[in-house]
Amino acid sequence: AAPAVSNFLRAIIDKDIADATYARAGMPSVITRFPPEPNGYLHIGHAKSICLNFGLARDYAGRCHLRFDDTNPEKEDQEYVDTIMDSVKWLGFDWEGATGNHLYFASDYFDKFYAIAEYLITAEHAYVDSQSAEDMAANRGDFSKPGVNSPFRERAASESLDLLRRMKAGEFQGGEHIVRAKIDMTSPNMNLRDPAIYRIRHAHHHRTGDAWCIYPMYDFAHPLEDAIENITHSICTLEFQDHRPFYDWVIERAAEGGFFQQPVPHQYEFARLNLTYVVTSKRKLRQLVEEGIVSGWDDPRMPTIVGIRRRGYTPESIQAFCERIGVTRSDGWIDYSTLEGCLREDLDPKAPRATAVLRPLKLIIDNFPEGETVECSSPVHPHHPERGLRLFPISKELWIEADDFMEEPSKGYFRLYPGNKVRLRYGYVVECTGCDKDENGNIIAVHCNYFADSKSGTEGSANYKVKGNIHWVSVATALEAEVRLYDRLFTDANPDAGGKDFMALLNPNALEVVKAYLEPGMSAALPDERFQFERHGYFVADRVDSVAGKPVFNRVTTLKDSWGK
Ligand code: ATP
Ligand code: MG
Ligand code: MG
Repeated sequence: AAPAVSNFLRAIIDKDIADATYARAGMPSVITRFPPEPNGYLHIGHAKSICLNFGLARDYAGRCHLRFDDTNPEKEDQEYVDTIMDSVKWLGFDWEGATGNHLYFASDYFDKFYAIAEYLITAEHAYVDSQSAEDMAANRGDFSKPGVNSPFRERAASESLDLLRRMKAGEFQGGEHIVRAKIDMTSPNMNLRDPAIYRIRHAHHHRTGDAWCIYPMYDFAHPLEDAIENITHSICTLEFQDHRPFYDWVIERAAEGGFFQQPVPHQYEFARLNLTYVVTSKRKLRQLVEEGIVSGWDDPRMPTIVGIRRRGYTPESIQAFCERIGVTRSDGWIDYSTLEGCLREDLDPKAPRATAVLRPLKLIIDNFPEGETVECSSPVHPHHPERGLRLFPISKELWIEADDFMEEPSKGYFRLYPGNKVRLRYGYVVECTGCDKDENGNIIAVHCNYFADSKSGTEGSANYKVKGNIHWVSVATALEAEVRLYDRLFTDANPDAGGKDFMALLNPNALEVVKAYLEPGMSAALPDERFQFERHGYFVADRVDSVAGKPVFNRVTTLKDSWGK
């Protein structure tokens, strides 16, 4: 891999290493984590966080934990745990290494979270509040006005402790009581106005079942998870910057209570990935799936990892993309074409070439001997002769692209039209003589004559100078395929931007299904195998629908960036 470009996080880590911040305590210098909540599918934004956290661990010989932040039982499920693990692995990362299997679940720490809550109450750093939800909201104040202390704030620690134990025992309904940190109801930082740390939820948890009916709040659980796992650098997106004082508060109080030793984790924020033409909000992605706009979470138009994988993106191209966009502390938009560029750069040197005729039209070489075939060939890869040749026969009847013929050529059109000569790529030069039409005037076949001494690679071919060069496959040996031409899901560059109705911005041409004819060798293509279809772009055999004898190909991206031009 290319040497990593420095960024503000690497600078922080370099300094921590120079100062021996963690080494002095006998700890590894870098332990990061990727902490998804198992409540949905990962998307390209998560890929940035995965590449960042696992990438830092790799580059600094530390480790990265995969931790499921499963503290919110209603929305979580094993299905999401499974797909997230699968997606992280597919991206090329592993939580299992020389130092063990670093797969963690926040739900495994429920006892510890609870013990810390009891400690905080005993130490008068927390209390049970019994206000109604409405009173609590009203007394919280807002950005323009300070909050007001709850009438329950000064209740005896022993009373709060008793209530917490009874909350845990299931004596109350959801919402009757809540545990809050005792900080400052007048703080300009809303997150410090006695934030909730535990609440009642009579909900079944996908791992702990019905063992608990109280669950910790994210802002309380998250710092504790980090501290329990000895995370050194806890990296999150910028919107959590205002949560950092509470993150530190929780860990400091718990450390005072003897739950953790110094040095403790620190939180650092970076700018989330915003990609043009893409929505990454889970709610919006779910709506696309549930309303049938796409075929599922793994629809190749979806920005989910399972979607971009099925679309044909490679893990290498996603990693290169995340490296290229870098890590900063200021929000911005990344152009979708950057992602496509990374795919092209990855596939161009690797992908075998192939011929695919999309939207086929028949070409008949009238002077070609009936029943005869002549073998033609071209390299599997133009820059890698050692990868050998593809072989395909030419014969009297061929399939060409409908676009490669015009009965009345427009200005600058060099391909087939009556009287014009073109080269059939890797084959012969032909001269167009006309076309056949059906009763409605639709062109159903094009006619031409060929020059027998013009075959590519032979001496005679040099005598023919033509401007047009078109691709073709023989009717007799062509392999029929379904080709799915995918494009951006939205027509607007910022469908996710405030106020916009993203459902009104769907690209009606985001999927076009066409019949295609492929060169015969393509019958051996395996699901997930990628090719460059000459003149068309990069394609992958669909990992779900493509089967031997009935291939289905997805267009990953065109050869050149043609969007918005
Ligand atoms: P939710 O709305 O459910 O909280 P989420 O996108 O935050 O959704 P998480 O499962 O909490 O999902 O995310 C796991 C990690 O991925 C978090 O550390 C989060 O910061 C990071 N992440 C999520 N979206 C992006 C993004 N667009 N760019 C970079 N990192 C992201
Ligand atoms: Mg989440
Ligand atoms: Mg989140």
